Amino acid sequence: MSPASPPAAVPPVASPGVGDARTWTCRVCDTANPVEASACSACHTSIFDVFGGGDAQAVITPGAAVAWSLLVPGWGHARAGQGLLGAAIGGVVVLSAVFGAALWQTGMSGFGIALVLAAVGVYLVAALDAFRWASGQAEETLLRPAVVKTVTAVVLVVVIVAAATTFSA
Ligand SMILES: [Zn+2]
Repeated sequence: MSPASPPAAVPPVASPGVGDARTWTCRVCDTANPVEASACSACHTSIFDVFGGGDAQAVITPGAAVAWSLLVPGWGHARAGQGLLGAAIGGVVVLSAVFGAALWQTGMSGFGIALVLAAVGVYLVAALDAFRWASGQAEETLLRPAVVKTVTAVVLVVVIVAAATTFSA
């Protein structure tokens, strides 16, 4: 009988056993994620993609989406199930390119070059995004609706400022 003896009992460790843990396996990178996570911890693919919920986007292959996007800006998005976003992207590319070229030719080369560069930038990023939409990596895309709206607003402001400067000169 020794009252000072330490408790011998090892506290039961609630081990997160692999067998009973409820996980889902990422379709893209094969990482096991807890069911509470709505997106993969490694690559951020949505759990809904794994369960086939996002079936509206895998209409074409990523390569074809890029090709369509380079041919007609925004068309790759449309073919990947993002018609409205594609239309907005196509619109801002055309708007920037047309007004940029016009301003460039009328001697407003600063505004013109800025708009042409914006058109080229959106055009190239759109091709990248088309690839991501077609491969189910929606969360990796850069040209989200809010971004496209902002770019469009900036382009319109530049056009208005350029026009105002022209008419007041
Ligand atoms: Zn993953």
